[in-house]
This record gives sequence, C-alpha cells and structure tokens, in this order.
Amino acid sequence: MSSTAESAGNSLLRVLPSVDEILLLERIRVIADSAGARKTTEFIREEVDAVRAELLAGKADPAAGETGREDLIDQIASRVEVRWLKENALRINAVINATGVVIHTNLGRSPLSEDALRAVADVAAGYCTLEYDLNTGKRGKRGIGAERLLCDLTGAEAALIVNNCAAAALLVLTALGKGGNVVVSRGELVEIGGDFRIPDVLARSGCTLKEVGTTNRTKIADYEMAIDAATTMIMRVHPSNYRVVGFTAAPTTDDLVMLACEKGIIFFEDAGSGAIGDLASIGLGDEPIIARSVEQGIDLIAFSGDKLLGGPQSGIVVGRRKLIEQVRSHPLYRALRADKLVYAALEATLRSYVRGTQQQDIPVLKMLSRTPEEIRQRANGLLSTISSEQTRSLSIAIEDGSSAIGGGAAPDIEPRTAVIAITSEKFSTMELERKLRMSDPPVIARIENDRIVIDLRTVFGEEESALRNAILSLAEGAD
Ligand SMILES: *Cc1c(COP(=O)(O)O)cnc(C)c1O
Repeated sequence: MSSTAESAGNSLLRVLPSVDEILLLERIRVIADSAGARKTTEFIREEVDAVRAELLAGKADPAAGETGREDLIDQIASRVEVRWLKENALRINAVINATGVVIHTNLGRSPLSEDALRAVADVAAGYCTLEYDLNTGKRGKRGIGAERLLCDLTGAEAALIVNNCAAAALLVLTALGKGGNVVVSRGELVEIGGDFRIPDVLARSGCTLKEVGTTNRTKIADYEMAIDAATTMIMRVHPSNYRVVGFTAAPTTDDLVMLACEKGIIFFEDAGSGAIGDLASIGLGDEPIIARSVEQGIDLIAFSGDKLLGGPQSGIVVGRRKLIEQVRSHPLYRALRADKLVYAALEATLRSYVRGTQQQDIPVLKMLSRTPEEIRQRANGLLSTISSEQTRSLSIAIEDGSSAIGGGAAPDIEPRTAVIAITSEKFSTMELERKLRMSDPPVIARIENDRIVIDLRTVFGEEESALRNAILSLAEGAD
C-alpha cells in the first residue's frame, strides 16, 4: 500500500459513518420496517466493518473530505440493500412459472384450486374439526373426510393419508413388509427425482429386495420362482419418469393379483402420480387409473396428492381395510401424518372430482388441456400491449414449442405449445434470465437455443400484466 493511499484511507476512517447514522436513512428505515431493527443493525455493522477493512487494506479509494463521507454512506447503504435483497430471495416467494412445466417440483408442484385455497384459509384462521366429531361431540378421526372421498372416488374399502408418496411407500413397506422379502421387477427399480430410489427405500424399511426378471422383460414365472417362505410382498412401481420401449414384457395385473393371492402375500403398487379420472383426453392415458387398480384387486395402491391429482403435497394409500388399519396402527404413521391444512386442501380438491368439475376447477388439469392455438392467442394478446418502441433493444417472437408435464410423469409426452422467444442486443441470455428471476414477482423462464423462452401454458391470466412489466424491464438499463 502506498503511503498516500494509507493516509487517505486513514482520514476516511475518521469520517466512517456510525451504524446509527446509517440506520436513520430513509432507504434503510424501509428495510428495518420489514427485517426488524436487530437484523438491519447486524447488516449495517457487518457492512461498515467490511468497508473499514477495505479502506485499511487500501482497496477502496474514494474521494476525500465531505464528498468521500457521503460516498461512504451511500456505499454502505447500497450494500445493506443488496444484503436484504439476497436475504429476501431465500424466503418462500410466490413466482410466475413461465417454464411450461406444469407439475414443477422446484416451483411447488400443483397450484391449488380456488376451493382448496378457501378451505385452507378457513381452517387455518381459527379452530377446526381436525380430530373432532360434530355428530357426537367427541374426539373424531383425523382425515376421515378426505378418506371417505377417496373411497368414493376409487372404490377402495379404506384410505390413509401421509406427508407424501415417498412416506406412503416407506410406511407400507415397513408396516406390512415386516422385514421379509419384497419382490420387485428389475425394470421397476427406478429413481424418482434425486433422492427417492426404490432399492434404498426398501432397505430403509427393513425389508430385503428380491429383484426379478431383467431391465426390459419380466415374466410372471420370474415372480413365481422368487417367492419363498420369507416373502411378504410383491411391489410394483410405476416407472413414472422413465420408459422402457422396444422388446419389453411385464406380467398383467391379473396375473400378479392371482399369484399374490395364491401365495398369501400382499400386492402393493406405487402408482406415483396416478389418475383419479381418465386422463386420455389430455394425452396421459398411460397413467395408472387408481379405481381400475382397486377393481383389479391390487391390495394397496400409493400415489401423490400434488402431481396429476392437483392437490396439496401428500401421499395417499387406498386398498383393503384390514391392511390399511394395520398400516395406520404402526408408530411410523404417527410420525408421517399430515396436518389440517393438507386435509382441508385435499378434501376440497377431491370434492371437485366427486362433482365431476375437476377439469374446470383444478389448475394443473386446466393447464394441461390448453391448446397451442389458445396459448398462441394469449401470447399475441400479451405482446400487442407492448410497443416495439418500448423494447427496441429486444427481439421478441412467437414460435412453436413444447411444454412438459413434470413431476416425474409421462416423460415422453411434450404437449405442443407456443412460446415467446426473447433475445437482447444489450444483455446475454443468462443476464436476461437473471433479470426475470430477480423481478418482482420473480419470473422463472427457460433458456432454449440461447434465447429466453416464455410459455404461457403455466402462467395464470392474473399474472400476465406482471409478466408484461418484467418483459418491458428487460429492455432497460446498461445503455
Ligand atoms: C413421484 C413419485 C414418488 C414420490 O412421491 P412424493 O409425493 O414426491 O413423495 C414415489 N413413487 C413414484 C413412482 C413417483 O412417481
């Protein structure tokens, strides 16, 4: 460090603002109102310390005298603002999903229906009948409303709800596998989204995995040969996010039901997303229909509440009453049980199916049924409110594209869509993506062929004006 830099630094140290001085600034008071005085003071102290250290190290070289002091105050305040922005980004924030991935696990999977939202607000604001029976005035059974609706919709004798489908699978294997051998086809030993792997879940449950068949072909005789006195269960897993095509074979459901029955063991299916109604009309005819699995005689079927069902995060098990009650009485059930908000949202979601209005009520089903023509029309409408004058540095076009189902369902189905593709003369695509992500509300978009791609399939009508503003802001800055 040169001696002149040192003395300039030292003279600035004397005018370094105090924490209290910064705290009084209007732009900082706004932060304190939201973050609280303690947190804000902590940010300021750390930034003042950092600036002091930089001055001492001769890294900063601001103007001397009163201007230098004003600069320092401004610099520290700006750094506190950045700290607050970053802190805020860690909150659970509502975002605009412009990715076109309908069941986006990172973005919270299924948006809830209006009815489900109202039901949640209702039971959350005060007390509710979570475990209270209005008919008797005595203690009631948690989840009974949702369970009855599930039985109604699937034809099952009984139902049970836990935190998610992974929990449901672990619980069923633990409670009913009883540490015995569980037979699974090699074609179904899948990983679903990073941390749910069938062999690992089986190991955790205390059961022993008996793999049968091959990756592409497994026959009923393979199952038959693997079953011995230590076998407690056949498990079938819907390979949700992956497909084996070509020379493949798997036993029919009827054959497996018959075999399990003959051997006196349980047939359990992890259906993954599962479908309450037939989803063939929106191109998802491959998803197992829960009512059909029940009818065919599968003993227990587990599926997610927040995938194609379109409800809150939850894991649902339906099937034979005796088995469901055994699962319910296992101590692990208590640890994995769902809360009142989940039951409220799930009941309301299921009621749409009972009424037959799911296609109108449930956001994921509505989004999946949008046609490319509809989406293109909306994109046109949105862009017609933006003048080319306002976005001179941007190139914006509407093009054909594809959306995705997401949530580990139907990986081979990519609904056709229309996308708004954007590039800029001033900013790289990465910078555009970041600008959208940092806007308020944040807009999450995809990058494709070095362009920003916005798919309105997953954008709500009410979000369009905020999205429009975010697109406009891409034209601003760095001139
Ligand atoms: C998604 C999925 C799960 C996990 O469900 P969560 O509700 O996310 O826990 C388990 N099994 C299959 C087959 C799945 O598709």
